[in-house]
Amino acid sequence: MRRVISLLAAFIAVFALIAIAQPRPQAQTGPKLLVVLVVDQMRADYLQRFDRHWRAGFRTLLDKGLVFENARYPYLGTVTCAGHSTIGTGALPHTHGMISNGWWSREDHRLVGCTADPASPDLSYGRPASLGNSAVHLLVPTLADELRMQKPGARVVAVSLKARSAIGLAGHGGDAIVWFDDPSGSWATSRAYASAPVPAVKEFIDKNPYEQDLNREWTLTGPAAGYVFRDAGVGERPPAGWNGLFPHLIKGRGGLDAQFFALWQATPLADAYLMRMATSLVDGLALGQRSATDFLGISFSTLDEVGHSFGPESREIEDVLRQLDATIGSLIERLDARVGRANYVLALSADHGVAPNAIAPRGGRIAPEDVRERIEETLSAELGPLAKGTFVEAVNFTEVYFASGVFDRLRSSSKAMAALERAVTEIPGVAAVLRADQLSTNRDENARSAALSYMSGRSGDLIVVPKEYWYFSGRNATFATTHGTHHEYDTHVPLILFGGGIRAAHVATAATPADIAPTLGRLAGVQLSKAEGHALSEAVR
Ligand SMILES: [Zn+2]
Repeated sequence: MRRVISLLAAFIAVFALIAIAQPRPQAQTGPKLLVVLVVDQMRADYLQRFDRHWRAGFRTLLDKGLVFENARYPYLGTVTCAGHSTIGTGALPHTHGMISNGWWSREDHRLVGCTADPASPDLSYGRPASLGNSAVHLLVPTLADELRMQKPGARVVAVSLKARSAIGLAGHGGDAIVWFDDPSGSWATSRAYASAPVPAVKEFIDKNPYEQDLNREWTLTGPAAGYVFRDAGVGERPPAGWNGLFPHLIKGRGGLDAQFFALWQATPLADAYLMRMATSLVDGLALGQRSATDFLGISFSTLDEVGHSFGPESREIEDVLRQLDATIGSLIERLDARVGRANYVLALSADHGVAPNAIAPRGGRIAPEDVRERIEETLSAELGPLAKGTFVEAVNFTEVYFASGVFDRLRSSSKAMAALERAVTEIPGVAAVLRADQLSTNRDENARSAALSYMSGRSGDLIVVPKEYWYFSGRNATFATTHGTHHEYDTHVPLILFGGGIRAAHVATAATPADIAPTLGRLAGVQLSKAEGHALSEAVR
């Protein structure tokens, strides 16, 4: 009997050893958490230019991550909505439909925001919100959508200052999709994502009101001598309430008002707040800590706010990134502690870059009003003046929308079309005028990148392509610079993968941000049938 018991004990011990020696299930099922970080307006060259400042997040990603040094957007319309939707879906704008931050609606005769959806009213976490937002205009599923469909139990969280950024990463559903509603100065989601405010989000916001930053100062992180750029940069256009010199006081004109809401978003405090909200949701929703694979998207918008006001060669940009290095470092520490580095894969990229401030003689601004009036003048001479109305309905960045019937008249008059193309091309800064009806057959480099941003019914009839260092800027615009072209400074962005199973290396392989979703999808065992990017072989082998 005793011998039987000891034999049994031996069997149990052997089985226990075998069980311990088995690989843990997650090693076979891929990462338990996919993390996508987007730094709005971050150019690839910032990683080298400001290398002296990296101590935490960017240092870890550059030293321990898989760094794709040649990641570029292949399309013309390099703006926020297009970039986030490309990262979120793995498709390009001509397929996912988010061709720009908004487009001219020929039915309603007005500009429609890319996430505007009156049928999905916003739900505020503070003061009442009046807008409506959803992914109704996004024509393909995101990686996060496919994860929810193909891996039951997956949770999806996306946070940003901008609705179009959170929505471009999350897609058509999710557990906590949060953005900042500018008119009310409050955090919000919409009925597309929740029937009521999400308790875990509400608890964080109630305990951590950002409004307590009223009258705080944005001061430099280190001594002035340690910065690459001087404080008073040429061509800066600081937002109302600030000048070009540090420190910047985060104040309203009269307390908690529109100026305060805008200035707070233009400080590193907003990035840090967003990171703390995200990590509280990692805890509250146990992201990456269950049997399912979850998705966390964070888009840091502050760099874009500050970049538009001060430009890429400013001390403000430099300090935003220096503080973001610490913020991303804290995020990685928290993910390591809660989820374990072996159990998550993180991708970092940007939705677009930015042009240098337009300083003559190197570059300048093309006013859409000039384009519009030049076309009216030319067509009035070529086709005869109109009894009423105008030839052009709208000019939105590169896109020219003719009034109904005008483009057909032009197509039947090669003389008028030639005169029009010549007149617009003579505007300083215009490189080319492309016809929408010829994009698919035009093999020129400008036309190929414009075709990837083109969608019938949303795009214009003509596409005006700016020369290098020139960009579209309304007559009364108050920003220092912008983006939205196919030039290197707008298209070349960081692309870094990091975490479980990802080796440390810097590679020169050509990549695009559309490769992020297919790569993460492959690692998590999720199919993306509409993606145009590819799983990056350096990451998935
Ligand atoms: Zn921008």
